[in-house]
Amino acid sequence: MKTLVYRIDETNPNPPEMAELGEIIKKGGLVAFPTETVYGLGGDALNPESSKKIYAAKGRPSDNPLIVHIAAWEDIFLLTKEVPEAAKKLAQAFWPGPLTMILKKSDRVPKETTGGLDTVAIRFPSHKVAQELIKASGGFIAAPSANLSGKPSPTIAKYVLEDLDERVDAIIDGGDIPIGLESTIVDLTAEEPMILRPGFITREMLLSVLDQVKTDPTILDASCRERPKAPGMRYRHYAPKGDLSIVEGSPEEVIAYINRAVSNARETERKTGVIATAESAPYYSADLVKSVGSRENSGEVAASLYRILREFDDENVEVIYSESFSSEGLGEAIMNRLLKAAGHKVVRV
Ligand code: AMP
Ligand code: MG
Repeated sequence: MKTLVYRIDETNPNPPEMAELGEIIKKGGLVAFPTETVYGLGGDALNPESSKKIYAAKGRPSDNPLIVHIAAWEDIFLLTKEVPEAAKKLAQAFWPGPLTMILKKSDRVPKETTGGLDTVAIRFPSHKVAQELIKASGGFIAAPSANLSGKPSPTIAKYVLEDLDERVDAIIDGGDIPIGLESTIVDLTAEEPMILRPGFITREMLLSVLDQVKTDPTILDASCRERPKAPGMRYRHYAPKGDLSIVEGSPEEVIAYINRAVSNARETERKTGVIATAESAPYYSADLVKSVGSRENSGEVAASLYRILREFDDENVEVIYSESFSSEGLGEAIMNRLLKAAGHKVVRV
């Protein structure tokens, strides 16, 4: 299949081509598009055939459910059996934005979209291009991240094209993505709301609206034997091709350890890379040293992490060391993704 590429940005989110792109989705086709979190791979959420195509295009296991994206908050009622008070409060506080809510699904939502579950994940994105595409395509777009399964989610269009060229009907290049990590997922189907995946909307932000919120224990403890409630959390994710380890400790010891490890790896002629910060980058001696930005600015770290993992792939880096980050606030989401990318390989020095 030939993949058409359109350049549309938020300053003019509804050019004449948007109607064409909406038609592609209405007819059962796939369109990759920008959102404020990462690029999404969209199909008609109410059409089981479209969802099957999404799984096939990504190589995604079909028990890993898709998030349904809407562009009008009332549409939540069409997709669900009931909307608890807590969900209404969260929608009012954080929609449109990077928050996904899990609710009991209505019959309108096919099981192909929810990976066989009776619940549905719903999000109202704030990105204007995403909103216009959703409206143009009938109101309900199922969209996982626009990468091949297992790879880091794309935050620039180049990586969408690299993974999905000839696998989707169209790609909208909307420029760089502001947040860079997937949405926070909160399950509202039980008595107490539960975070299934940390994201840009932090626990503290949720607690400004809710009386209580717990976190899926499997997120906090990798050795926890329970099954994660969000099926996607079971799979290896975000992994670069190189062998990634995280090094934790005081800044001086981390730098010294990584420089020693890098010189060892070089003796076996492997190409080395370091995920550093603006503060530490000058002190490393690897083949490729990339800064995720200032350690003081977690927004910047989040926005550059996936791009940097991809850049190491581009350069065929074989051994990668990353500094560790604080798990406070947005740091919880950053460390969650970094740990998954590293397959939980952590060295404490
Ligand atoms: P992605 O769109 O690739 O960021 O992944 C969406 C993730 O949302 C999936 O991997 C699941 O872990 C989670 N999810 C989607 N629907 C549900 C649901 N009904 N119940 C629990 N988790 C869900
Ligand atoms: Mg994904």
